[in-house]
Amino acid sequence: MDYSYLAANWTAVRDRVAQACRDAGRDPVEVAILPVSKTFDADVVRAAAALGLHRFGENRVQEVREKAPQLADCGIEWVIIGPLQTNKAKDVARLAHEVQTLDRIELAEALDHRLQIEGRQLDVLVQVKTSPEESKHGLSPAELPALLAALRRFDTLRVRGLMTIATHTGDTAEVRRCFRQLRELRDAMVAAGYTLPRLSMGMSGDFALAIAEGATDVRIGSAIFGARTVAAAG
Ligand SMILES: *Cc1c(COP(=O)(O)O)cnc(C)c1O
Repeated sequence: MDYSYLAANWTAVRDRVAQACRDAGRDPVEVAILPVSKTFDADVVRAAAALGLHRFGENRVQEVREKAPQLADCGIEWVIIGPLQTNKAKDVARLAHEVQTLDRIELAEALDHRLQIEGRQLDVLVQVKTSPEESKHGLSPAELPALLAALRRFDTLRVRGLMTIATHTGDTAEVRRCFRQLRELRDAMVAAGYTLPRLSMGMSGDFALAIAEGATDVRIGSAIFGARTVAAAG
């Protein structure tokens, strides 16, 4: 297989992200790109790793279970960006470096239990639902202060920031409202004493708006890997 398109796409995405940063008056080093490899097989991820990419976002733990052993020599860090059931905590504790979809205390308890067994820690972002869409996951903004307070007792979980998925719409004002809401929530929680440097928001179709609203992490799938032919669950 010829994967040369990956290098071209990666360069183009980096350029577009850098441009969005400059347009927003920000330094491009402030924004990390998380390549989202869901539905693409291990050979594609290996080719991307050869370009120097070493963190990949996946939304199904089962897919990480399949790919991780095939890529054990690549030094990859797997980032979970999909909804998580507590019965996946064991695999997550073993395989993942970060979870961006922590949204309830039961999940934190399950992860903490398994991480203690593994003797590991995990970076986590709390997923907040900023979109009115039924299909979007995350806890409601009103529930955030209580969850952050409850998370303080888990030293296996390093809470680094917040994550959201904007409303799926061509209405840029609505998309931007979602991102702004996440930033304002973060600012309020920082004022309350929490350390939350990271805001994971923005995907292939809306990362420029997210960067304008303060994103530190953008999650980019199709703009790097191409259109997904297999439906991504979750
Ligand atoms: C699939 C996915 C992405 C990447 O989406 P693209 O539109 O392909 O860039 C980002 N975030 C989450 C949570 C996803 O599930």
